[in-house]
Amino acid sequence: MSGNPNEARVVAEVPKGLLVAGQWADASDGGTFDVFDPSTGEALCAVADATPEDGRRALEAAAAAQKEFAATAPRARADMLMSAFDLLHERIEDLALLMTLEMGKPLAESKGEIAYAAEFFRHFAEEAVRIDGGYQTAPAGGSRFLITKQPVGPALLITPWNFPMAMGTRKLGPAIAAGCTSITKPAQQTPLSMLALGEVLREAGVPDGVVNILPTTRPGEITEPLLTSGVIRKLSFTGSTGVGRTLLAQSAEQVLRTSMELGGNAGFVVFEDADIDEAVAGAMAAKMRNTGEACTAANRIFVQRSVIDEFGERLAKAMSELPVGRGVEDGVRVGPLIDEKAREKVQSLVDDAVAGGARVLTGGTAPDGPGYFYPPTVLTGVPVTARMASEEIFGPVAPLTSFDTEDEVVAAVNDTEFGLVNYVFTNDLRRGLRVAEALESGMVGLNQGVVSNPAAPFGGVKASGLGREGGRAGIEEYLETKYVGIAM
Ligand code: NAP
Repeated sequence: MSGNPNEARVVAEVPKGLLVAGQWADASDGGTFDVFDPSTGEALCAVADATPEDGRRALEAAAAAQKEFAATAPRARADMLMSAFDLLHERIEDLALLMTLEMGKPLAESKGEIAYAAEFFRHFAEEAVRIDGGYQTAPAGGSRFLITKQPVGPALLITPWNFPMAMGTRKLGPAIAAGCTSITKPAQQTPLSMLALGEVLREAGVPDGVVNILPTTRPGEITEPLLTSGVIRKLSFTGSTGVGRTLLAQSAEQVLRTSMELGGNAGFVVFEDADIDEAVAGAMAAKMRNTGEACTAANRIFVQRSVIDEFGERLAKAMSELPVGRGVEDGVRVGPLIDEKAREKVQSLVDDAVAGGARVLTGGTAPDGPGYFYPPTVLTGVPVTARMASEEIFGPVAPLTSFDTEDEVVAAVNDTEFGLVNYVFTNDLRRGLRVAEALESGMVGLNQGVVSNPAAPFGGVKASGLGREGGRAGIEEYLETKYVGIAM
């Protein structure tokens, strides 16, 4: 840490244990692991390292609390979520600092994430009291159908490091609203934000055992027994497609409900009739939110040939002007990547594209010195055969490729196993809607570079996942539909 007393204080104040049955506890074997600041590479603190035995205890706690929690009044569950919403806003400064320290993103973005994370609690508080059902006459007359919704049951929630709190509230919000207990396994690199969230939920009155949190360095050893236990009824996972496939296979044994928010390879399409200022601003948002470490990040930028030089020049200028540094410093817009491995991957993708004929307009080389920084980079003339056309870059690198026709660009964007989000910039409404319909993705940004919104159904198709988080759909993922046939 830098010696800044605020940084030391927020790290000192966050719980470092496991949250099991409403109590903060050490790991069963007393083990801990270190959490690092990616802007310095230095350890911030150690947290408890859950063991499979701790997994069993959390499972017992979640199972024991399920029946009573399912029976709580929807309004009571909504009130818990609204109290947590208020607490997140009251503590936004400290929580943002903590998030920046463990994850690296600039403070303004951390504050933005906490407000976004809190919004999931407000949205699902509003949904908790609108869980509906139905009553109808059977088509042949005589009997009646009574249709009700019930909580799925205990859920396992696994979150990634890139949005350490929002990916948690996007799952915990609907789980609590629906009446499901849960065990959350946060990412190893960023457990502190989730531990702070656990304390917020405790203070918000969530009953003991309803929310359990297990940081661990042994994710598979903890989660596989949970998934195959027969007690857990639901998996919600956000992370890479590779790990998602493994977890889906494990979930098959007990035929679990699954929500899988997996990797992306977003296309960003700029037609020559687009407003170039808006397209550059959209590309900056779609590329640079979270330093490019987002599943929604523009990974392939296709620009119509007549405007690619102008677009490239303007994007490179805007990117080169972004201040890079520790996220806690004033004015910094680009923080470090999460670790050295991530930085090496970004560099190798850039080197591969350049070897294939791409030209560097700005950036392209990692700086020396502490921290895992990488400069905002724009490449043009990136061949569609470059590795970065099929792999997630997860860094501040914008690769530009030219195209000539609408059909050609739609085919190019769809030529990937992923289908999370794509972006289209055009001032021709009919073209915009036509292309949005033709793109194989769960979401499309039409003349906007950010699609995430707690009130909208977020999710992908193809290898980007199953199910939706947010919107009306988000709570349905935690509810079973029960039909009672009634003889009259
Ligand atoms: P990851 O390596 O798949 O890890 C995600 C989570 O899974 C972490 O908590 C990780 O724990 C855990 N995990 C890893 N191996 C596991 C196993 N065998 N069994 C159970 N859990 C396991 O992904 P990441 O690098 O943290 O996150 C980046 C990825 O997430 C990218 O692909 C990104 O596109 C995707 N993502 C998707 C969305 C979306 O909504 N679609 C949103 C954000 C991110 P450890 O930390 O201990 O490894």
